[in-house]
Amino acid sequence: MRYETDSILDLDRCHAWHPYASTVNPLPVHEVVGAEGVRLLLADGRELIDGMASWWCMVHGYNHPTLNRALTSQVDKMAHVMFGGLTHAPAATLCARLARMSPQGLERVFLCDSGSVSVEVAMKMAMQYMAARDCPEKCRFLTVRRGYHGDTFHAMSVCDPVNGMHSLFSGSLPRQFFAPEPAIPFDGQWDDADIEPLAGLLRQHAREICAVILEPVVQGAGGMRFYHPGYLRSLRSLCHEAGVLLIFDEIATGFGRSGRLWAADHAGVSPDIMCVGKALTGGYMTLGATLATEDVARTICSAKPGLFMHGPTFMGNPLACAVALASLDLLEQEPWQPRVLRLEQELKQGLEPCRSLPHVADVRVLGAIGVVELDSPVNMAAIQKQFVDRGVWVRPFGKLVYVMPPYVMSREEVAVLTGAVCEVLRADNGIREAGV
Ligand SMILES: *Cc1c(COP(=O)(O)O)cnc(C)c1O
Repeated sequence: MRYETDSILDLDRCHAWHPYASTVNPLPVHEVVGAEGVRLLLADGRELIDGMASWWCMVHGYNHPTLNRALTSQVDKMAHVMFGGLTHAPAATLCARLARMSPQGLERVFLCDSGSVSVEVAMKMAMQYMAARDCPEKCRFLTVRRGYHGDTFHAMSVCDPVNGMHSLFSGSLPRQFFAPEPAIPFDGQWDDADIEPLAGLLRQHAREICAVILEPVVQGAGGMRFYHPGYLRSLRSLCHEAGVLLIFDEIATGFGRSGRLWAADHAGVSPDIMCVGKALTGGYMTLGATLATEDVARTICSAKPGLFMHGPTFMGNPLACAVALASLDLLEQEPWQPRVLRLEQELKQGLEPCRSLPHVADVRVLGAIGVVELDSPVNMAAIQKQFVDRGVWVRPFGKLVYVMPPYVMSREEVAVLTGAVCEVLRADNGIREAGV
């Protein structure tokens, strides 16, 4: 009973552990009591325009009647059932839908719990594939710096070694190969010299490498960088020649975020394995999926032990699959692409004034992703408060102040959001980390 008299913030301070957070010196948190469209409603009555789409997931906005209905109608039928030996319409239909809409050749869908797990599954598939082809020594991965693939151990091993704090876990992280990050920007002039360092590593170590894994076009949490799609076209043929698989992590970019349905579509290439997550359920529930070609699936399952060694307890959860299907319906029925391209224009226009500010190193926009890169890291507590005071929710990391709005954000709301970013950066009122 004692708890009823404590405030939520007190309970949180005493018992909750937040992402990438200290329990000793906690940063302030805000209590959310509701969310509608692109707005978060705080317990103190304030409303915030959400520039983060809840870590890039909530593409259709909060409290969407179609998604709500999908979830409640599924819960009345069946909330969950094991996926071993049983199947059901939401999961089977979702697998078929994902196979149909994904880049060519990805026919098999392995459902799992989250983005990180879908990366683990992809990496296990690549290792099992090579073992099935009598090349068990091909068990390491090649990737590029500045990547982010999740927080579990194998996923961490292919995150940027510095950002990903590999030194903290050096004893237990598998050691992978790292090429420099792609340098030519999205709209630059392609030159094969950009991929030469990776090509060199691939030539040198192909006998140990099972797959190349990277985020296509948009490097998200590792630096919010947009690189040239030509990189992926060259990479596709390099992987073929070297006999290694190609894995695209579309967890951040999938479902339209970069202006195309898949970031891979900018390059017109298909990977052998693809990871999705984040916006898959329209932000409603945790769900990931790993898609693979028929060749990957058949090769794995035609050799000992004749099966793929993975199977999460909540695999194919019907609630998550039902809401994912409804979210895909919305993507099909609603004009997501014109919306994202409109957001791209509005974000470009709205963030452009930041470019001339003293501590701004770069402003870049692709699809519904707007980034202002500073020359030094932000003071999170200070900048967070100034955004909240201006009625927007923006959560920077490191030197990056960025927005990834829900696709349904209106022109006026985008203007408030980008206006707040410009004002806070222009005022430069204690928002940068002292002494850096
Ligand atoms: C968020 C993200 C992940 C991890 O997904 P989780 O659901 O947080 O485990 C992996 N890869 C990329 C590119 C991501 O953006």
